[in-house]
Amino acid sequence: MSSNSHLYATYAPPEQEFVRGEGVRLYDAKDRDWLDCTSGIAVSALGYSHPHLVETLQEQSGKLWHLSNIFKVPGQERLAARLCQATFADRVFFSNSGAEAIECAVKTARRYFYSKGEPQRIDILTFEGAFHGRTLAAIAAGGQEKYLEGFGPKAPGFVHLPFGDHEALKAAIGETTAAILIEPIQGEGGIRPVPAQCLRGLRELCDEAGILLIFDEIQTGMGRTGKLFAYEWSGAEPDIMAIAKGLGGGFPIGACLATEEAASGMTLASHGTTFGGGPLAMAVGNAVLDVMLEDGFLEHVREMAKLLRQQLAQLVDTYPDLLEDVRGEGLLQGVKAKIPNTEIIAQFRKHGVLTVAAGDNVIRFLPPLIVTAEELREVRDRLDLAMAELAGAVAGAK
Ligand SMILES: *Cc1c(COP(=O)(O)O)cnc(C)c1O
Repeated sequence: MSSNSHLYATYAPPEQEFVRGEGVRLYDAKDRDWLDCTSGIAVSALGYSHPHLVETLQEQSGKLWHLSNIFKVPGQERLAARLCQATFADRVFFSNSGAEAIECAVKTARRYFYSKGEPQRIDILTFEGAFHGRTLAAIAAGGQEKYLEGFGPKAPGFVHLPFGDHEALKAAIGETTAAILIEPIQGEGGIRPVPAQCLRGLRELCDEAGILLIFDEIQTGMGRTGKLFAYEWSGAEPDIMAIAKGLGGGFPIGACLATEEAASGMTLASHGTTFGGGPLAMAVGNAVLDVMLEDGFLEHVREMAKLLRQQLAQLVDTYPDLLEDVRGEGLLQGVKAKIPNTEIIAQFRKHGVLTVAAGDNVIRFLPPLIVTAEELREVRDRLDLAMAELAGAVAGAK
């Protein structure tokens, strides 16, 4: 297959092709269904073909697709105001992707110190296992060799520290430090949550040192953990935050949020984008918020999370030779495997459940936030069948 493909060989998708989606289900051309526990990696937060999103996009596409930020873009002020109303932030810059939101966050932090007369403060402290995207700055921020290899010199100004070592972090803060950048729960790194007291500790450390705190909530944000943003569980607020993924419910969009103070260096013409914050993206982003800000939406996520968590814990208990533990928050759960996670993921797919790999040999479960208890029970039944078959095969091979 790959030999006659005209696509870059950067991905190796399985054979089956999905042609449509509805709610938490994806269908192939023969109408076989899969229960999707990937949400396109935390993107399709409201599932597939959500009526309010479909209607909104159809309506907007008949009015205006693109304008450029040299004009006032319909929906932009409203979406920014709603995001600020719901968070710590006062200012928003819209982009098309998560990596661009991270770039904006890094630029905002450096520019803040530049404008304060401390241009030497450029270093961003990040953590082992982090993932912040695939642009040259974002792979430097993530610091993982597998993403940096062969792409030339690593962009300067990123310092990598061990995960969860407060003393090493304290020692690393110096006269060239601008900010700490962290995911409240490492997503790609293997669903590794940062304890709430550590996030509060980071906030204190940043305040003492006079540096900025940046959260990457690209994966953990937009209701994924049962709060609109994961930082709300900790009580520690950032100065700058990158979001994307679920914000567009499947339409490409990213955003960098900042306090008035942190954004103060981002003056006229200091940053820009052609496509970011376009009319289609703004319409859909506002429609996603219409649904997520409704009474009861986040309670539903928390209830479903409890159920998913119980089911996964039970699966781990039943198959202790194949599975190790469950970790995560809300509908962002990871199961650590004892055999290669890719084998289990393929087996789940065979039985009609889609999951996605993460670092540390973890299988990630991120169903759409609109998933119901009944659908989760169907997921469980399919996983049980898949695991029973796999356990039999593994035992037979011994
Ligand atoms: C997905 C992700 C990114 C990158 O987002 P893109 O839209 O792929 O550029 C950055 N940080 C985290 C935590 C992510 O999960």
